[in-house]
Amino acid sequence: SNPYRNLIAGVNTIVPLKGGNFTTYINFDNAATTPPFISVVNRIVDFSQWYSSIHRGTGYKSKLSSEIYDSSRKAILDFVGGTCGKDCVIYVKNTTEAINKLSNMYKEIYGTGVILSTSMEHHSNDLPWRYKFHVDYVNIDQEGRLDLEDLEKKLQAYRGMVRLVTVTGASNVTGYKNPIHQIARLAHKYGAKILVDGAQLVPHCAVDMKPHSSPEHIDYLAFSAHKMYAPFGIGVLIGPNSIFDQCSPDYKGGGTIDVVTHDYIKWAELPDKEEAGTPNVMGVVALLESINILNSISMEYLDRYERSLAQYTYDHLSKIPDIDLYNFHKNSNDRVSIVPFNIKGLHHSQVAEILSEEAGIGVRNGCFCAQPYIQKLLNVSNEEIDERKKGNLKIRPGFVRLSFGLYNTIEEIDALIGILKKIVDNKEHYMREYPLES
Ligand code: PMP
Repeated sequence: SNPYRNLIAGVNTIVPLKGGNFTTYINFDNAATTPPFISVVNRIVDFSQWYSSIHRGTGYKSKLSSEIYDSSRKAILDFVGGTCGKDCVIYVKNTTEAINKLSNMYKEIYGTGVILSTSMEHHSNDLPWRYKFHVDYVNIDQEGRLDLEDLEKKLQAYRGMVRLVTVTGASNVTGYKNPIHQIARLAHKYGAKILVDGAQLVPHCAVDMKPHSSPEHIDYLAFSAHKMYAPFGIGVLIGPNSIFDQCSPDYKGGGTIDVVTHDYIKWAELPDKEEAGTPNVMGVVALLESINILNSISMEYLDRYERSLAQYTYDHLSKIPDIDLYNFHKNSNDRVSIVPFNIKGLHHSQVAEILSEEAGIGVRNGCFCAQPYIQKLLNVSNEEIDERKKGNLKIRPGFVRLSFGLYNTIEEIDALIGILKKIVDNKEHYMREYPLES
């Protein structure tokens, strides 16, 4: 029923269930990592006879690898509306490395100042900024969305001291999409730049960084290939040459220098100086293939389709008694396809375990590397947080998270709804079968 299902590796994998039966695995954990496109896997296999270390060799294979690697940056910029000639694509391991790298650059260039983060960030877009700058957090509203009035208030209060507004494009917990261009406009009005953590946005929606002359321009963008049907170990940081040019490399070594003597170093030009060591050519080839396929499907289609899956899920789960959807998205359709929930009376870890063991459904549960957001969404008390700091409380607050990809189907969601109804109707039984580990 979904023509794109055949593009994905492993969609028909059979997995064991508790009790000895088997079933086809259902993956509702695409926000963590997506399975690869089959053609991405094939491209890796095909290219393995051609690949070679780049930029240093003169052999045919080395030249071919260098050419593919170097020209890939234009395809990346085209995919997200970056500007050739003004923006630089730096390849990194993942979003986490991209943001750490940018925070090191900012420390080197600016030394001090304020970074405005938000209360809905993944730890990867929060912790790298701490201890380097004064970090403040834009509030969220009652339903978990970013409070734009508070953003402007904070930009005003810090009067020109804010170096950067760093915000997720879409939350990995609630799926809320932030109005990144409106936020860019505000940041620029007060002399700040904007970084968009695109880990959950780029794989699910068309992204446009817009021209540098636009007040809505996105200055920096970071994302990871493993959330967009390509492998682990390759990610992207995009930002202006004019800023990156001012920094010395955070990792130093092979490939980062132009001239070196025992007492002199002249760094290489961008992007080489920011990509120390032998680069991940295979990762780039795989990411390129994935982008080609996403382009051919169209991000607009994918966005619409995935949101329709989320809507269907919301509509059905909201009719099941004892399923708590927390009013997220009550007044918002601006989301990527992520649905967090809980079942009253069961811990999220029990629900996730039951879905896996009884129905072969893979989800994620817990805090999703966003503890401050979860604490606010669930009104976790300071006393409880203190107990956790002391190590006295092992059971964590959190959600069960469903996150869909372009290959998921209504039939799969119906299977989920079926087992959730069964769990709700037989709660006592499942509580006994899956006791909460303390
Ligand atoms: N930001 C967000 C919003 C994420 O969802 C994730 C991954 N869960 C990250 C950053 C970090 O991505 P990675 O683990 O690929 O570095």
